[in-house]
Parts: sequence; structure tokens; C-alpha cells
Amino acid sequence: MSDNNIKSEYTVLLAGNPNVGKSTVFNALTGMKQHTGNWAGKTVSTAEGSYKYNSSHFRLLDLPGTYSLNASSPDEKAALNAIETVEYDCIAVVIDATSIERNLNLVLQILQITNKAVVCVNLADEAEKQHIDIDYDELSLQLGVPVVRTAARKKLGLKQLIEEISNVASGRRKTYTVTRKYDDKTENEIKIICDALSDIPNSEKRQTAIHILERKQDITYDEKIRNALLKVSELNGGETSDIIAKARVGQCEEIYKLCVNRRNGEYRSRDRKIDKILTSRIFGIPVMLLLFGVIFYITIVGANYPSEWLSSLFSFIGEKLTLFADNTGTPFWLKNLLIDGVYTTLSNVVSVMLPPMAIFFPLFTILEDLGYLPRVAFNLDSVFCRAGTNGKQGLTMLMGFGCNACGVTGCRIIDGENERKIAVLTNNFSPCNGRFPTLIAIISMFFVGVFPIAVQSAVSAFILVGIILVSILVSLLVSFILSKTILKVSGKSFIMELPPYRVPQIGKTIVRSLLDRTVFVLGRAVLVAVPAGAVIWLLANIHAGSETIISYITAFLDPFAKIMGLDGAILTGFILGFPANEIVLPTTLMIYLSNGTMTDYGSLTQLHDILISNGWTIKTAVCTLIFTLMHFPCSTTCITVKKETGSIKWAILSFILPTVCGIICCIAANLIFDIFL
Ligand code: GDP
Repeated sequence: MSDNNIKSEYTVLLAGNPNVGKSTVFNALTGMKQHTGNWAGKTVSTAEGSYKYNSSHFRLLDLPGTYSLNASSPDEKAALNAIETVEYDCIAVVIDATSIERNLNLVLQILQITNKAVVCVNLADEAEKQHIDIDYDELSLQLGVPVVRTAARKKLGLKQLIEEISNVASGRRKTYTVTRKYDDKTENEIKIICDALSDIPNSEKRQTAIHILERKQDITYDEKIRNALLKVSELNGGETSDIIAKARVGQCEEIYKLCVNRRNGEYRSRDRKIDKILTSRIFGIPVMLLLFGVIFYITIVGANYPSEWLSSLFSFIGEKLTLFADNTGTPFWLKNLLIDGVYTTLSNVVSVMLPPMAIFFPLFTILEDLGYLPRVAFNLDSVFCRAGTNGKQGLTMLMGFGCNACGVTGCRIIDGENERKIAVLTNNFSPCNGRFPTLIAIISMFFVGVFPIAVQSAVSAFILVGIILVSILVSLLVSFILSKTILKVSGKSFIMELPPYRVPQIGKTIVRSLLDRTVFVLGRAVLVAVPAGAVIWLLANIHAGSETIISYITAFLDPFAKIMGLDGAILTGFILGFPANEIVLPTTLMIYLSNGTMTDYGSLTQLHDILISNGWTIKTAVCTLIFTLMHFPCSTTCITVKKETGSIKWAILSFILPTVCGIICCIAANLIFDIFL
């Protein structure tokens, strides 16, 4: 690989700890829009992009952010697997200029495998703000590979990074392996392995031996090496020693001392002060609830008006479409199918979903960018441990509030097979964004009417926070039961680094969250709503005998639904909403309408009237809320669970578990209402 011939295509791996700006570098180089956010573990899969430089094509693979390559969690495994199997020309390791010492661990581990590397010291602007001086030349000397200073957010240093990557990839820049001495005992271990490595070149023996010593458990070696490893283990009294890993910590410290000077001892003192409140035992959780309450409040208040405007706009367009269809002599059935079925479903989904999403997502992304989400996980850690699971589950749960499929994928950051499965199975208890509009609509219609108008939105937000708390409690309870039964684990507190607070780029955040999240989720809902609208319309209009098909389905489900405090229409709505939760309420409404047309429910009052005239009471509202919170995941999430766990069994369980919980709770609520109220 190290010849001087310029190739037309190079492969570059982008590695680094979580939250060092790797996605920002990736996006800046490739012009792509990977999700960025200020917390560990958001890049959980390998993304691929490319760029051109000096008439060569560079394929860039973004590896999941990891602290090491010890292969103890799927993201570490994925990163290591890519390094071991992809034929790359260069690895660019992105590190955080404000915490070089910790980041060097991964760098040294990678340099143990290859010296075809470039180290990108990112967040240099932050380091300068914190009065951290870095001697880049010395660092390069110590590591044997080029070191580039970047501030990716401001696009500084990227040209040089591209150049150095090209130099190393093409072999123009010679890099070298720095031999670091270990203590005598380790050196002895290294020698034993080296002796067993008969068929590799001498120059590579030492590095390979170190690598083998570090990863002894998870690789199958030939007999000679196995015997050598056995010998090493005997020297350690039968223990597998982690001597290399420990020695590396010392090496990081040494390099750090040589290359970095902190002029300001009061490092991150501002962050510590803020954390004293935000993660304190007394204030941590109340402040968190308050913050989410405020976000929900803004979402509810802000979404009301645009929802109404959109709805009037859609009915106006609908009228024009009908007029157009009448004038052009469109067949009656086609007109109804397209306008009453597809168009009305679509417009209801958009007008109900878009405003809250367009407000909630940017606010949530700002919290994420600030670095607040890991603090939430930190606050919840002890509670999660008591439930017998891994504290990181708190983070994946938060991701689930955005989208359960994302939450399930995020579970890759969790170490331990059983812990991860518990997090996957319980993720659906976090109501995703597709369910928020339903929750908000029902709360606003049924539970705040007795309060003065001025405070109704605040009360709605308060109730929503309560519902979120219930979802967290249920999630914890189910996790606890799972951890004591089919997925035995004992909760251990997780070590998690709290990222520094960073001023979010508000404008960019809003645009990005609108484009990435809002449009994505809405796009998916629309994709589902179009065929669903058509199918529902057909079911509601095709007669079998005297009744429509949908009335048969509804009547069939009705007795069971009644036991759950619902009715056949609501349950049918949930079932037809399997492709996307967003269409549950619009579908239910459509079923209520005898003429098989979905009405526009321009305002919540109108919607309330429709529901009341179809027999809804407070009990129906409560049970629908419960079932919204706890029922089968949407089809995308089910597919994701199957993909992530590699087994249909867990996908089926993830479907059954919340559904059974939901049914039980609905029946219980129904009984309580019937007996006591
Ligand atoms: P990743 O987890 O390594 O992919 O990190 P991201 O690319 O998501 O970045 C984490 C946070 O750091 C985001 O809020 C970025 O906007 C911010 N960030 C990235 N690069 C820089 C930089 O060079 N300077 C500053 N000040 N912030 C940065």
C-alpha cells in the first residue's frame, strides 16, 4: 500500500471517541448531513461518503464513535471489525483537543494496528478558549503520524486534513511506528508471543504481539499462539491480565505531558458549576421535569394555531379539488377515493403532525446540542440501576421519544447482551413523536376543559410530563421483571463522560432538525398515509351485504375493545395504524363517519364533538391514552428490532410485551372507572 503511485480511489476510515466532532468532520469533507449532537453514542452505524482531491476519489467510512477497540459492545465490535476487514489506505482518527489525554487511548490502540493514520485534533477553538496549548509538532513526533489542528464547525484546518490524508494514503508521507517500552513483566509477555509468531515479518511481530495480548479472549488463534497465551496466563497465576491496557494509560499520560500545557487550572469550571445544579440529587430531576414541561408547553401552545391554519388551507384546497373533479367528469368512485380517502387522510396527518413536530424537534435538538441529554441519563442512572439494568438505557429511552426505531438502533451503545435486549424490548414504552399529537389532542380535549382557558396549555403540558413519567416507570418496571427472569442481569452503574456544554448553533439546529427529523418523520407518515387512506376508504365503502367491510371489522372487535374501555373503531384505528402511529386518530375518526369520508376536524372543539357523539367519555379518553402509550411498536420499529437482535423471536416479543401491558392496564382502568366512578 505504501508505494508512491497515485491511485484513482482511496478508502479512508474515520475513527474517534464519541462526541469529538467526527460527524461534523465527516459532513464537512463529504458535504453530507450525518446527524450531529453533543452526546456520546449517536453515531451507531457506519456511514459512507466521498470527496475528490487532486483528481483522486476518497471513499470515507465513518465508524461508530468508541472509546476503545476492546470489542465489548456492538459499536466497538463494528469499529474494530471495519479496521480489521476493510482494505483502507488511511485511518483518520479525530480527537478532542480539550481532552487529549483520554482520547489518546484510542489513538495508541489504532497505531498498534497500523501507522497509516492521520490524527485530527478537532475542537481546537474550544481548547484555545480554555487556554490549552498543544504542541502539534511534538505530538506528531510522539505518534509517528501527521497531526492536524482543526475546528470542524468553523471549517478550519480541513484543507490540511484532506492533504495529509492524501499524503498518507498515497504513501507520499512516510509514517512510522513508535516503539514504546513497557515494564519488564509486560516485555516478557510480548516476547513470549513474538516467539510464537513464526510466519509474519519481523518488523510487524512486536505490534502484532501487543495486539494479541490485548485481545486474547476474543480471537481464535493457531495452536502455537494459543500455547504462548497459556504460558502468559500461567505467569499471571491463571488470570488474564489487562497489563497492556493499563500500561497504555501511562503512555497517554506521558505523551500528554510532553505535548499539552494547560495554562488555566480552572478547567471546565463553568460546566462544573452548571452541573452542580443540573445533575444534583435534589434539583436534577425537578429541573429536568420543568425543562421538559416548558418544551411541551411551547409545543402545545405553538402548535394550536398553525394546525388550524393548515387545516383550513387543506379544506380550501379540498373544495377546489372536488370542484375540479366535478368539472372534469372524474368518475364518482375515483373522485371519492382520491379526495375523500387519500387527500383527506393526508391532510389530517399533516395538519395534526407537522406543527407540533416542527416545534418539538428543534427544541429537543437544541437540548441535545447543548449537551443536556447525557445529564438526563446521568440523573436517571441510579433509578435504572435499581431496576437492574444499564444506565445507558436512559439515553436510548430518550432517543425513543423522538423515534422508537432510532432508540432501538441506539441500543448498540449498551454493553452486555442481556442489558441491550432489555433496552430494545422496552424502548417502545417511550411514546415516540408519532404518538405525541394523539396524546396532546386527547389531553387538550378531555382533561383541561375545567381550567380557565389561559392555563389550559400549561395544564396539558403538566399532564404530558406526568404521562412521560408513567412511561418511564412502566419501562423500569418491565425492565426489572425482565432482568430477574428471562434476561438475567444485575444493574451496574455505567461510567459515562458528561460532555462539555457547547453553545448550540441555533439557526443551523433549527434548519437541520426540520430537514432531518421533521421532514423525515412527516415523509414517512405521508408515505404510509397515502395507501392507508386509500385502503381505509375502500374498506369503508365496499359493502358486503348491507354493511361495509370496516363495520364488520369494527363490530367484530367491539366486544373485546369494550372490555378495554375502548370501542371497535378505536381498536381498528390502532391496528390499521401499525405502519405509522400518526394515522391512528385520523383513521378512528374516519370509521366514525357513516358515509365513509374522513372529515376535516379543523379545530379540537370539532374533533371533540365528533368523539363525544360517538360515545367517548373520560374513561374512553383515559383508556385510549393508556393504549397509545402501550401497544405494539410500528412496523418500522418491529423490523429494526429484528435487524438489531438478529432474531424474529425478539421482534415478536417486542410486539407482544407492550401490547399485553397495554391491554392489562386498559382493562384495569376500565374496571376502576366502572366500580368507583
Ligand atoms: P461526533 O459524536 O464525534 O460525531 O460529534 P459531532 O460531530 O456530533 O459534534 C459534537 C458537538 O461538537 C456538536 O455540537 C458539534 O456542533 C460540536 N463541534 C464539532 N466540531 C467542533 C469544533 O471544531 N468546534 C466546536 N466549538 N464545536 C464543534
